[in-house]
Amino acid sequence: MTTSPQPSNAEIDALIVDALNHRVGKDERAAKPHDWYTATVYALRDKVIDRWMESTRRTYAEGGKRVYYLSLEFLIGRLLRDAVSNLDLNGALERALRSHGFELSQLEELEPDAALGNGGLGRLAACFMESLASLDIPAYGYGIRYVNGMFRQRIDDGWQVELPETWLSHGNPWEFDRRESAYRVGFGGEVVSDGDAVRWEPAEMVEASAVDTPVVGWRGKRVNTLRLWTAHALDPIKLDAFNAGDHVGALEGEARAASLVRVLYPADSHQAGQELRLRQEYFFSAASIQDILRRHMQHNGNIRTLPDKAAIQLNDTHPAVAVAELVRLLVDHHGLEFDEALDITRRTVAYTNHTLLPEALESWPLPLFERLLPRHMQIIYAINSRVLREARKQGVNDAAIAAISLIDEGGERRVRMANLAFTGANSVNGVAALHTDLMKQTVFHDLHRLYPKKINNKTNGVTPRRWLMQCNPGLTSVIRDAIGNAFLDDTEELSALNALAGDAELGERIAEVKRSNKVALAAHIKDLTGVRVSPDALFDVQIKRIHEYKRQLLNLIETVALYDQIRSHPERDWVPRVKIFAGKAAPSYHNAKLIIKLANDIARRVNSDPSVAGLLKVVFVPNYNVTLAERIIPAADLSEQISTAGMEASGTGNMKFALNGALTIGTLDGANIEIKDRVGDENIVIFGMTADEVAEKRANGYAPREVIEGSPELHQAVEAIASGVFSPDDEDRYKDLMGGLYDSDWFMVAADFEAYASAQREVDARWQDTAGWRKAAIHNIANVGWFSSDRTIGEYARDIWKVL
Ligand SMILES: *Cc1c(COP(=O)(O)O)cnc(C)c1O
Repeated sequence: MTTSPQPSNAEIDALIVDALNHRVGKDERAAKPHDWYTATVYALRDKVIDRWMESTRRTYAEGGKRVYYLSLEFLIGRLLRDAVSNLDLNGALERALRSHGFELSQLEELEPDAALGNGGLGRLAACFMESLASLDIPAYGYGIRYVNGMFRQRIDDGWQVELPETWLSHGNPWEFDRRESAYRVGFGGEVVSDGDAVRWEPAEMVEASAVDTPVVGWRGKRVNTLRLWTAHALDPIKLDAFNAGDHVGALEGEARAASLVRVLYPADSHQAGQELRLRQEYFFSAASIQDILRRHMQHNGNIRTLPDKAAIQLNDTHPAVAVAELVRLLVDHHGLEFDEALDITRRTVAYTNHTLLPEALESWPLPLFERLLPRHMQIIYAINSRVLREARKQGVNDAAIAAISLIDEGGERRVRMANLAFTGANSVNGVAALHTDLMKQTVFHDLHRLYPKKINNKTNGVTPRRWLMQCNPGLTSVIRDAIGNAFLDDTEELSALNALAGDAELGERIAEVKRSNKVALAAHIKDLTGVRVSPDALFDVQIKRIHEYKRQLLNLIETVALYDQIRSHPERDWVPRVKIFAGKAAPSYHNAKLIIKLANDIARRVNSDPSVAGLLKVVFVPNYNVTLAERIIPAADLSEQISTAGMEASGTGNMKFALNGALTIGTLDGANIEIKDRVGDENIVIFGMTADEVAEKRANGYAPREVIEGSPELHQAVEAIASGVFSPDDEDRYKDLMGGLYDSDWFMVAADFEAYASAQREVDARWQDTAGWRKAAIHNIANVGWFSSDRTIGEYARDIWKVL
């Protein structure tokens, strides 16, 4: 297991006090809790740094291949508990802090939640970084050090209000400034040819400089680096302008550089079309590729061996311009012929697709791309001409040629980033089996026929350290007592629980843990929203980005229907439920923000109605982030995974819930299908149309009005919302939202309503069979070990990166 000896309590204590005195600059009497938090991180960091250096030395000595994970998002969350737990310092640290009157858990609450991502895609990158270190794979994550990450969400009178996230305002003790690792990144200007050679002369230049965060693997096996780029002006102050009194002009360069790393675009599953976004994409891609090539040349000295020493994974198309940047540097700086440069690039780069939604597929207007990156535009044309020549040679028809082209010629010409990533990569993977199949049938239909071996599947996973051991210590301890410790190192060992699923005593112990997690969550909900909920009710949870395809609206309409049913049939034996919602809407996404308001309007009415008291509560918990997910998931009984089939690429929330013993109510979408295959049909509640049925209904003309008017429960609920029953202060508030259901209902809310409502009544029946529910919960925990990101990373490492 761990190699170096564990430090004693006294040693940890001395490290903390020394850090408090000499790095924070406080003595023990003057120190505030925040000072103790900072000192604790510094003390821990010292332990991390030893292993970090050891990992780096070992990588150099072994001279093996490194993995580079390029992602515009890393949804990291807090790091203190992660580091403490992975270094196995819980006990020592707790004792040391107690001697100064602090609980570790209390200091943990002082750490800001690092939210450099929107949702699933960014969280996947963070889970992958942890698994790479845990599997002892030498790897670097590359991204942007946003000064303002994902916005903080406040709920004002039921509406989402976005506030800037200032996670760096008290400094960040986890990070290391590496001013010596700095690169120039250009924009604009022109391409000049001198003789055979071509030179790009950018009009603007900024400096990217590295800020490193150590990533500790399980049992401290390896510490890898998350390298986030920050930006500086090369000429921070134009002194001549300053002296001439032009103070704004003098600082313009610094302001422009700062804007590159100022804020994360808060759009999830939607392309952010502004020029600044393309600048961010190029800025971090160019710095990362330069860093990779610098390291390669320093250690290997031969540019041609790059594919043997580096595997570059693109997390979605946000870093797709890295393909053109790598070709550019190989041709313009290393003097390779274009075809050899493209071949080396393709053997080095792989691409992960995350969505099939047309509105999320990135493309840039050609004139903008050409103005900002004129040399890259030439390279993209050159790649395109080779790809299209190859396609024509194979007899591909004109319609398919148009689909394969890196340039969208329909209307305003645009550069297609997915086609660039696809043609520049040796591997193109989807993130769940269904998603990968649909990729072959839809977005990449013609590219797949041209390159039939590129597309492969890598079903997502989540790190069991954060999403079981750290967030749910109670459950972890019960499982250890039941089946021993093997699952701590291999989550698939959880399957030993299957044999004990009928054990009433184990069922009882797990239920006790769940109840105490629910008590804690109920207190938190009271603090945040003022709503009192009973831990004895069924906690029915839908927490994720607010998006129409995720269908929070289906859940809310069913909630209204249930509310009506309880009031009409008070004599029935209703299962007490708490409907818990959380999630952020993109600030410009009108319907998503309206859905948040609707959840809050329904909550206000339902929670104050004495006729359903004790039977139904609705809460919208503000500011969904990793830290909140870590509180809610261990307390969930029911996991809502109800996207329109074919639209959720994978989902990872679904995996976290099942691992913590919640049952899923879900559609046959994304990884839900694979969860069902593993936990068994009798331990999950599946409803609704399949992806094929959705496609067929859309193709053959779907009449939602008939469906709504044909379903009394649905009709009554939709009409109640539309007519202002939940919005007496503004009766028309939801008229258009409900009107959209009658008119088109793209997301098939009406079409799936009856199936969903009856699936919910099936959930009620199962809940009333306490023993049956407990058994099903155990089968869920036992059979989702496969969804560990260790398994996913193992597959990437063997099949794509060839490093295991
Ligand atoms: C896991 C996670 C997600 C992804 O959830 P889905 O339900 O798969 O969309 C998003 N945000 C946070 C904070 C998460 O922890």
